Amino acid sequence: MSDGEKERDKNSDPEPNSQLERVRVQRCPECGSKRLVSDHRCAEIVCMNCGFVIAAKIADRGPEWRAFTSKQRAKRTRVGAPSTYTIHDKGLSTIIDWHDRDGRGKSLSYGQKAQMYRLRKWHRRIRVSDATERNLTFALSEMSRIGNHLNLPKNILETASVIYRKALKERVIRGRSIQGVTAAAIYLACRQCKLPRTLEEIAQASNMNKKEVGRNYRFLIKKLDCSVPPVKPSQWIARFSNYLEMQGKGEEIAHKILVAAKELRLTSGRAPLGVAAGACYIASVLSGEGRTQREVAEIAQVTEVTIRNRYKELVERLMFQISL
Ligand SMILES: [Zn+2]
Repeated sequence: MSDGEKERDKNSDPEPNSQLERVRVQRCPECGSKRLVSDHRCAEIVCMNCGFVIAAKIADRGPEWRAFTSKQRAKRTRVGAPSTYTIHDKGLSTIIDWHDRDGRGKSLSYGQKAQMYRLRKWHRRIRVSDATERNLTFALSEMSRIGNHLNLPKNILETASVIYRKALKERVIRGRSIQGVTAAAIYLACRQCKLPRTLEEIAQASNMNKKEVGRNYRFLIKKLDCSVPPVKPSQWIARFSNYLEMQGKGEEIAHKILVAAKELRLTSGRAPLGVAAGACYIASVLSGEGRTQREVAEIAQVTEVTIRNRYKELVERLMFQISL
């Protein structure tokens, strides 16, 4: 029995905390005290003696579920990878692997191999049982394909999967193409998680018409009663300045322009994309990096006319306000 296990046995904590045990041998760098405690709510390891925060934003190594009573704990406890909504059975099914080996690593006999082959085949077939599940399987695999294509973070795909599952459960998908609703769910997830992505690029990645994805998107919002926060132009500036390969200074100026424009009420009623593109264009000129209107327009997917209009508005009223 190792030291760690002994210690775990000694205090009969129902939830042995590996993180705590790991730091228990450590000392506080400030006062040398060994009384460290990990506060999972704040994701910190704190010294009990002097209050020094030794580590912040520690990873949560616990399970993805929570239990409030012992009954719930008994019900939810399981082994294996965290469950995920991006797989149709939440990734909790058993998989018969393709190695023809038994538990000890010995290879199987010929007859057993044939049996395993058949078992595997039927296992694969019954994993997806009915039409609803088949729909979900296809949609989720399509979703992860688009996610990989657009380099979307995992939380977006999880959110989009939950949205799609909800739509499937409410039976609002009937009569619509799976791809269309999938793309719309991804766009909705991006909006809800405040990730700046245009409808157009998502539609393009899923080989769909932008109009149809937009229609599906509005339909989903209406039927699922979702709340979607409005897009802020500032969300786009980081992305545009990245794509335009602008220096940090330029990005900062763009943000300043935006703040000033907001004070003068120049952002209300304008499309956030256009305002952000206009601010980026002016910032690039002011910082001496000089991107053309066409370059900005191409990246922001707005017309040059829009940029010119926003530019005129902003320059007329703002130029005297910004101190660089
Ligand atoms: Zn201390």
